[in-house]
Amino acid sequence: MRLTIIGCGDAFGSGAHLQTAFHVRSETSAFLIDCGTTTLIGMRRLGLDPGDIDTVFVSHLHGDHFGGLTWILIDAQYVSKRTRPLVVTGPKGIEARFLVAAEALYPGITKGQGCFELTFIEYEEQKPLEVKGVAVTPFEVKHPSGAPPYALRFHLEGKVLAFSGDTGWTDVLYEVARDADLFISECFQYDVKIPIHLNYLTIDANYAKLGAKRVLLTHMSEAMLQNVGRVDASRYMVADDGMTLDL
Ligand SMILES: [Zn+2]
Repeated sequence: MRLTIIGCGDAFGSGAHLQTAFHVRSETSAFLIDCGTTTLIGMRRLGLDPGDIDTVFVSHLHGDHFGGLTWILIDAQYVSKRTRPLVVTGPKGIEARFLVAAEALYPGITKGQGCFELTFIEYEEQKPLEVKGVAVTPFEVKHPSGAPPYALRFHLEGKVLAFSGDTGWTDVLYEVARDADLFISECFQYDVKIPIHLNYLTIDANYAKLGAKRVLLTHMSEAMLQNVGRVDASRYMVADDGMTLDL
């Protein structure tokens, strides 16, 4: 499978990065992990077709992680003329939150869905679900966002791809990352501890116990970006918009 980083930024435009979105092309489908507000722009830059996406797996209900769904819908109706079904998975209440957001931004857009089926599936804690050959297990983490936030652990093509979502430190990350072929970890701060985000020093102190084969740091604030030269390159890759990784 090929992972493309559409956006590795935070909600504040730090480093001029686009907001969080990862694109995965596997043998069975193409899907997004998170869909920040800037996702459609990032896909256009990279030549990725939004009409190709089967599934959007959303980690939590902050706009920099799901706000881009509105623009995917607008593209589907007015430009791509999408017919392919689209499944969106996310925390409890994701459909209602999406409808409110989309109607606020583009009144009427959710009323005329055109000729494609849009389905929402809600996560249940640590209960695997499968869409188009991609299995995902959600693990609740620590990041208040109006609904339970999740880290996501994907199984596909015999590989494990794990994603922290946004979260303060929680030991559940050991289960999320264990033996993963790639663990994508938010790394909002370098050394500052806050309850709702991770920092580099905490991730590094837990590196061995996390036990992932590769770790990719993402969602970096300006404070973290200023310290990126102190990242141990033997342990971590640092995300950038447009970067690709083959797994
Ligand atoms: Zn968040």
